[in-house]
Amino acid sequence: MAECLFCNLAAGKIPCEVVYQDDTVFAFKDIHPKAPIHILVIPKKHIASLADLKTSELPLAAHMLETVNAIAKQLGTVKGYKLVINTGSEGGQAVMHLHMHLLGGKRFSD
Ligand code: 5GP
Ligand code: ZN
Repeated sequence: MAECLFCNLAAGKIPCEVVYQDDTVFAFKDIHPKAPIHILVIPKKHIASLADLKTSELPLAAHMLETVNAIAKQLGTVKGYKLVINTGSEGGQAVMHLHMHLLGGKRFSD
């Protein structure tokens, strides 16, 4: 989707700090980090939100989770990390392209 911010980031049309990418997923540093480690993992394909995920896209979602875990290990989050998927307007989702927030490098209380 040309007008989608995260589609444009994944296509390299808007610069960002890329952490990992392959044929189907793209991971980059959040522009306004809420923790010492704050990475966003997205599918390259446009999926608006977790609520829009189709059964046929479950392998892609699983690959996103695998990617989160690999990045977390690579960045040394040995004591754990937090994974957040804001979904829809009431779920606090501002960018309507499915993304997983990988947060780490601090202890979370909630
Ligand atoms: P949401 O609130 O939709 O779950 O999260 C969207 C996230 O995208 C926010 O944490 C925000 O800081 C991040 N973000 C928004 N625009 C940009 C951008 O242009 N570049 C990067 N790297 N992150 C962005
Ligand atoms: Zn998109």
